[in-house]
Amino acid sequence: MPGSNAPVRTPDLDAHRQTNEKPAPQFAEVALPLRVQHTFTYRLPAGVAEETRVGSRLLVPLGRKLVTGYVVALHDELDPSVELNETEIKDAEELLDGEPLLTPEVLEIARWIADYYAAPWGEVLKAALPAGLNATVEQVLTVTPEGRDELARLPQRSLTTAKGRALRLVAEEVEVTLRRVALEVGQGRAATVARQLESAGWVTLHHRQRTALARAKRRKAVRLLPPGGEGADGQPLTANGNATEENAAGANGAGRALTAAQQRVVESLIAAGGESFFAELLSSAGASASAVQSLERRKLVEVFVRDVRRDPLAGAALPASDALVLTEEQRDALAEIEAAIDGRDFKAFLLHGVTGSGKTEIYIRAMRAALAQGRSAMMLVPEIALTPVFSRRLRVHFGDAVAIFHSSLTTGERFDEWSRIRRGEARVVIGTRSAVFAPVRDLGVIVVDEEHESSYRQAESPYYNGRDTAVVRAHRERAVVVLGSATPSLESFHNARAGKYRYLELPTRIANRAMARAEIIDMRAVFARSGKPQPLSEELLTAVAETHARGEQSIVLLNRRGYSTFLVCRSCGERIQCENCDVTLTFHQRDRQLVCHYCDFRQRPPAQCPACKGVYIFYVGEGTEQLEEIIQKKFPTLRLARLDRDTTSRRRTYEQAVLRFGAGELDMLVGTQMIAKGHDFHNVTLVGVVSVDAGLAMPDFRAAERTFQLITQVAGRAGRGERPGRVLIQTYHPQHYALRHACAQDYRAFYDEEIRYRKNLSYPPFVSLAALLVHGPDATRVHETAVGLKEAFEEANADRSCRVLGPAPAPLARLRGEHRFQILLKSRSRARLRAVLDLGLAAATARGCDPHSVNVEIDPVNLM
Ligand code: ADP
Ligand code: ZN
Repeated sequence: MPGSNAPVRTPDLDAHRQTNEKPAPQFAEVALPLRVQHTFTYRLPAGVAEETRVGSRLLVPLGRKLVTGYVVALHDELDPSVELNETEIKDAEELLDGEPLLTPEVLEIARWIADYYAAPWGEVLKAALPAGLNATVEQVLTVTPEGRDELARLPQRSLTTAKGRALRLVAEEVEVTLRRVALEVGQGRAATVARQLESAGWVTLHHRQRTALARAKRRKAVRLLPPGGEGADGQPLTANGNATEENAAGANGAGRALTAAQQRVVESLIAAGGESFFAELLSSAGASASAVQSLERRKLVEVFVRDVRRDPLAGAALPASDALVLTEEQRDALAEIEAAIDGRDFKAFLLHGVTGSGKTEIYIRAMRAALAQGRSAMMLVPEIALTPVFSRRLRVHFGDAVAIFHSSLTTGERFDEWSRIRRGEARVVIGTRSAVFAPVRDLGVIVVDEEHESSYRQAESPYYNGRDTAVVRAHRERAVVVLGSATPSLESFHNARAGKYRYLELPTRIANRAMARAEIIDMRAVFARSGKPQPLSEELLTAVAETHARGEQSIVLLNRRGYSTFLVCRSCGERIQCENCDVTLTFHQRDRQLVCHYCDFRQRPPAQCPACKGVYIFYVGEGTEQLEEIIQKKFPTLRLARLDRDTTSRRRTYEQAVLRFGAGELDMLVGTQMIAKGHDFHNVTLVGVVSVDAGLAMPDFRAAERTFQLITQVAGRAGRGERPGRVLIQTYHPQHYALRHACAQDYRAFYDEEIRYRKNLSYPPFVSLAALLVHGPDATRVHETAVGLKEAFEEANADRSCRVLGPAPAPLARLRGEHRFQILLKSRSRARLRAVLDLGLAAATARGCDPHSVNVEIDPVNLM
């Protein structure tokens, strides 16, 4: 029986645990984050074996390195199918977690991803845990009491030696990594200095997995003890003028008077309300650690360790929670979802609601319904929908029960949020793609907002789709899943029609607000009129002027950052290209540099053509940077902000611009697609789309669908308040069906036309698709590998149940210095597709094909 002060464990974890009577397992089956499909077996030494659980992380030897693995099974004896004999099996080095980090649900969903997406299980498990938990080993130093005394004794001048500086550094924190010490005393000396401090008995040195940030944050802090040096109740003094005297008197009573530095420390503590972090205290008091330590010895202050929660929304102003009365449409949709949640069984919904129809309110109430049953709720959003406004709204609704994940969290914040879920303190999870792995228990509902977004697809191994994973997770955990969108993906709408998803529709905007009126501006006519290319038509400029004059706001979208799209030589036609990639470089005015948008290669714009030495180099095409300049020049009083990846690389810039725009402190947002989606600004009455032609021309079967979605979404930003909105779309292809239907805001018409095209050309959802990308630095080898793969697939495809296309150069034929070839597999039968894929890959690997040179994507979203 556990003692009375044993940590409380949730029942499911206990089920995981070995019962005491059973002997400890001998072997652990471990998934490693490597490009391999199989697991590894390690022997569990005594001491480790008793504590190891399925779902724990183990530090295990691999070659000469130690790596983090995930225990997926425990065995009492070797599985006969394991080809190793017992003497070849290595011992696990160290157990990293007392409690398993991976819950049974997360292990299972990761297993599903590994199977479905042909991804390595260990890579999936790694992706399922917050970044920073994946350990490598490092050394940390902790000061000993002797070290502390030594530091207090050290004469001032010794503090400038490497040893003195290192000791002081270590004494200031709970523990300090060797890397930190190296920053202080230099890379070459750190290890020696650390050993010297250790052999003098001043510090202890130990190995620890390197998770420096991803732990509960603990910092050394100092608090005042009550006068008299008793410190019985630990209550800090409150700040008041007399306290200083009292303290000083107490100190006097204890014997000696305080030194000036000690006095300053006490005063700083009082000013800080009786308590302060160690490092901050030293700097505010202008004192050394030894002053604090003397006070500590005299029992005037206490040094302690405090856990700090890093709250991503700390200090955020919260909007008032408004209790809305649902519209009839909203009520009907919600009623169905709530009934399903009550039914405690799997059900999938497609909530198709036009922009501004009030989907968010339904999401929130569905999540509340799950909470009311004592269950958990999860919401996935594309990165961009996690606006500060939205996050705050959720905080108002769910308080501390909500944990929020997005890409600009620090590793530490992410870990803290994750831990709150793991401990069951947070039962609502909101986040991007990887939040689908949150270790929530008893899941009631998963909402996937903007389910059509391609950002649900992870763009690196393991290639999984967060939306589809959410559906599968809901299914396994008998939960309800709600996929919401104004422009559902073709696949989801198709599923709804086939009856796989229950279809719910919100066809009108809240308060019967009109959808924005959209018009196409034919840029061929604009060109004919003026005789030269114009980035902005008079129609759009006039509309901007009128909107501004009425005191209303506008949004101008151009999906291309930078100043000029590319540089071209007028003499020979050469375009200035990236050294590493098969793309042109974009000119950025602010840094006066040419930048590759794929690999970030940078160079100064050349004065001469690199091919013909001609000097007539022209800058072609506009990016957002130039657009901002043009508009600002035309409308000097317009307050505008540009939002693209160049301006929002710093964490708060995006948030601030969005908040200021929402508060009416800005008249216009200019930017890339990050301004197109999710926001709810009530005073926006004009949306301009400067060009959609590049998007339409993408060599991808989803180009039309993406363009339709983008335009519908950005048009949806207009007219969300009292006044109607207007949308102007500039294009050289006014007849394109994606544009026509987007202008009419007619999803059905677009779907009908697009689905016919998919059927005729055998694209998803009518076939299953796998894309293989072969890449490497050597063009010939890459091509040979691709040809070899193709042959292996053809052999595996004897019954012709698949079509094997390629190899062909990928649309981005060279990227980051690597050549790229693509092979596509298509089949009406998903099972056959997988069989051919697995057989072919195994055969190719057996013939020496390196798995690291082939990316395998099932259900690919981007074919670039
Ligand atoms: P969507 O996500 O469908 O684009 P939102 O959920 O952002 O739409 O809702 C659009 C606006 O309508 C928001 O400002 C929201 O607060 C408001 N809203 C939603 N439901 C109601 C309601 N029942 N009554 C009044 N306003 C509502
Ligand atoms: Zn490049």
